[in-house]
Amino acid sequence: MQALKDLVPSGGLRNLDQVISEMDGMISPEFQPYFLANTALSLLFVCDRCGRCCREEKVIAVTIEDCRRIARYLGVSLKRFMKDYTRPHELKSELVGSARMLKKAPGESCPFYDPALPGCRIHSAKPQVCIAALYLSKMNLLICEEQKKVNRFPICSADGKMRARIAELSSRIKGDAGAKKQLDQLFEGARDEAELFHLLLRLKGMQIYFGDERATLLARRLGLARVPGDKEMRGAALLYALEITGLMIDN
Ligand code: SF4
Ligand code: SF4
Repeated sequence: MQALKDLVPSGGLRNLDQVISEMDGMISPEFQPYFLANTALSLLFVCDRCGRCCREEKVIAVTIEDCRRIARYLGVSLKRFMKDYTRPHELKSELVGSARMLKKAPGESCPFYDPALPGCRIHSAKPQVCIAALYLSKMNLLICEEQKKVNRFPICSADGKMRARIAELSSRIKGDAGAKKQLDQLFEGARDEAELFHLLLRLKGMQIYFGDERATLLARRLGLARVPGDKEMRGAALLYALEITGLMIDN
């Protein structure tokens, strides 16, 4: 938690109420517990790169930020990348803004899926939707809210492994009264640390869901040095996942 506290300016957070209200407008409060839980899972998730979703997804949407990042990674101009690899989105621009789709014929794998690797050949630059796909998609949040628990993904081996790891750690903690008490105290609502962690986890989720630009703007308005990095958040995200196991995460 100390690394996270170091991101806060010495005079404390700024514009907190306004930023929270803006976040409420971006993801409605009734989705908030599922948004936080799925953000934590998304930070802990390690894709096995089995390629199943790369072979089976019908549409892979890319934002302009994605296109810039992937073009840089491939060492081609943005214009060349857009022309060779993308086409207009099939949904109206009122719904998807400037997002486009990767070019692929029905039934074909994603153009970046390479069975020889195996997996994604642009793994470190892949589209936001591929990073967020399982946990932080609109569809998944809707399912979670309807089921009143965090959804699981039987088709994804990595999701099962992660849940098994969380379940194992959770049962060890349950058997240790001292550790369980410490964990509960860490996330008690009124504590400054808990509030800061929830805010940063939410900001991180916004970064995954809406992209870096919007999350960075929110972070600046809060006076934060930056949006926390994945590694900085992972330790606390694991503790948070353990805290809510049984309540929401169906292992
Ligand atoms: S199915 Fe899961 S493990 Fe396989 S590529 Fe997709 S996200 Fe990764
Ligand atoms: S960009 Fe990569 S991760 Fe995304 S669908 Fe294509 S191959 Fe899979």
